[in-house]
Formats: sequence, C-alpha cells, structure tokens
Amino acid sequence: MRTKQTALITVRGLADLIQALHHRGYAVIGPTRRDGAIVYDRVDSVGELPAGWTDEHGPGHYRLRRRDDDALFGYVVGPNSWKQQLHPPRRRLWRARRSDGKVEIAPQRDESPPLAFIGVRSCDLHAIDIQDRVFAAPEHRDEDYRARREQAFIVAVNCTEARQSCFCASMGTGPRADGGHDLALTELIDADRHDFLVEVGSERGQALLGEIAAPDASEADHELARRLGKRALSQMGRGLDTEGLKERLQGNPEHPRWAEIASRCLACANCTMVCPTCFCTSVHDSTDLDGQHAERWLRWDSCFNPEHAYVHGGSLRPSTRARYRQWLTHKLAHWIDQFGVSGCVGCGRCISWCPAGIDVTEEAAAIRNVTVDRSTTP
Ligand code: SF4
Ligand code: SF4
Repeated sequence: MRTKQTALITVRGLADLIQALHHRGYAVIGPTRRDGAIVYDRVDSVGELPAGWTDEHGPGHYRLRRRDDDALFGYVVGPNSWKQQLHPPRRRLWRARRSDGKVEIAPQRDESPPLAFIGVRSCDLHAIDIQDRVFAAPEHRDEDYRARREQAFIVAVNCTEARQSCFCASMGTGPRADGGHDLALTELIDADRHDFLVEVGSERGQALLGEIAAPDASEADHELARRLGKRALSQMGRGLDTEGLKERLQGNPEHPRWAEIASRCLACANCTMVCPTCFCTSVHDSTDLDGQHAERWLRWDSCFNPEHAYVHGGSLRPSTRARYRQWLTHKLAHWIDQFGVSGCVGCGRCISWCPAGIDVTEEAAAIRNVTVDRSTTP
C-alpha cells in the first residue's frame, strides 16, 4: 500500500472515493440540493452533489443561484450541520412494555451503519470538536453519540470562497481544515481543469487514499490551493473581536442593548436550531391508551423556548431579553468556563437564518463597547 500524504484526484477519483467508502460499509452523507437549499443527506454518487450551485448569505437572507462552473463544493454552509447526524433532532431512548404484571424496559440501540461525511467545512470540524466536549467527555458521556462519532469517517473540504456571513477567521476556526478529519479536499477548478487536491489527516484516510488511483500532487497544485485559501480569507464578510469579550459579556447583564435586541428578536429559536454547536434537549414520555406500552424520546430544545427554563411554577427566563442574553452569553462567554472554548465557530448560520436579521457579531460588539454600571440601572 502506498503511504502518500497528498494526491490529486479528478471528479472520477472522487466517485471512486465515495464507492470505496460504500464498500467499507459506510452510509455516505454529503451535500445535495433540496427544497431550495443545500442540505446534508445520503449521497450514493457524485451525481447527487450540488454541481454548479452556489449560495448567497446575508442577515435573514439565503438563496441558491447557478454558478458559471460545475464546482461540486461551490457553496459555504446550508441550514443543516453535521449535528443532525451525530446528535439527531429526535431519538427514542427506551421503550417499556407491561406483560404479566411486569414492566420490561428496553433501551434503544443505534443499529444504523457507520457514517462517512463528505464536504465538512473547517468551521464545522471545530463544531464537532465542541460537541465532543459536551457529549463524549468521560464525566457526562452520551454513549449513543460516542458510538456514532468514533465510527464517523470525515472528508473535509477547504473553503476557497467565503460569504458575507462568514467570520471563522476571527474565531480561529477556518477557512482551512486544521485537524479532526481523515482526508481534506481542495477543489481546483477553472476552464481547463476540475481536480481535487487531497491531503491525508489520519491513518484511516491514508489507507483509503491508497486504494484510489491518484497521481502525486505537484507544487503548482499546492500553490493554487494556497491561493484559493487566501481568496476565501479575503472574502470573509465579518469578524468578531473576542479579546476580553467573555468578561465584557459576563459583566454587562443590565446593558440596555439586551432590551433593544429583544424588541427585534422573535424568540423563534431558528438560531439555535441551525447552530452546529447548540446542544440543548428535552425528554418527552408517551404511553398508549391501554397503558401497556410507553416510550421516552429525546428532542432538540432551545433556550428561546420559555418551557426550557421552566422550574417548579415558572420560567427562570420569562422574557425574550433574558433568553437572548442567556443564548449570547452562554455561547460566547460561559461556554469558555464550561468547555474551554467559545461556543461559536463563526459559520454565520444564525445570521442567515434569523428572520429578523439579527447579527451575533454586531450584538456582541455593541455590548462589549459600552460597560453599564449595574448600580445605576433599574
Ligand atoms: S452562534 Fe451563529 S455563527 Fe456561531 S457557530 Fe452558532 S450559528 Fe455559527
Ligand atoms: S435571534 Fe433571530 S433566529 Fe434567534 S430567536 Fe431571535 S429572531 Fe429567532
């Protein structure tokens, strides 16, 4: 077996790579176009990737439009993230059945095949790392998540373009994959060529690449990949100044901006649903009418739902002001105390999918720039 660290593959080579993953028993999940968006779903062939489509992003704005080339990864992010796969929105935890006066409880086992992800952006690699800290840490491990995560094979795609909503560079999470992947692709496309520079990130990735007919990449290929990475950096539409931000947010619970945001925020929870790091859940029990069967389900929840903070007779956060403040300060400040990193990877999804066009970078900057004396606020 060859032990190359980089190679150049064609679109045909990418098809071979997907086939090789299928032969190893993986269910391959990648980008595909559906309902006017690019979503992550089962892809059985290269033909299902969104060739020739790109995305426009802005506050409260997302549209697909045609590209003037056939790029397969010529978009940035869609409304899905990989948390749909690793931390599904709805999952049965157990079933109970009454029989002969006894109750038997059967925990749900995940029997789905191992997953291979194609097209994971650097911001989303960092988001997966953040969710690992939540779900796979020994002191509060979710075994279901851990099993899916350990088996997952990850093919990253380095960003060669960025959008107005992107700010991964300021969060130190992109645009180039810097770990957590098995293979990383950079799409090299112009009038004369359509290739992928492949870089190895793990032994598993190296073994898979060894099965595919692929010549070595040249220095010119690497140089082009570097140039495209710089282009993505230069197109980044936003930034978040994180220096001292944690202290500023934690020290400003009475800032008037919280009320001002609340006058625009619909508390719709979109931002938490599209965010690749948000992880809140609730559990729901159900029984059938004859009382013989019961089930417990885990579902995504959101800190924007008043019921999420309901504790014995009332909600801890009864106003939109309190709920937005909880979301932003948890994401950008308390998360660092809990997990050692910011909860934001700068993917920009919460900006594009906020129906009110609320921009997390703008709101954080407004809070950080003025400290309000708590003793003088009502
Ligand atoms: S807070 Fe917004 S920009 Fe940050 S990771 Fe979540 S969705 Fe992406
Ligand atoms: S910030 Fe935007 S997306 Fe989030 S709850 Fe408010 S209106 Fe909805």
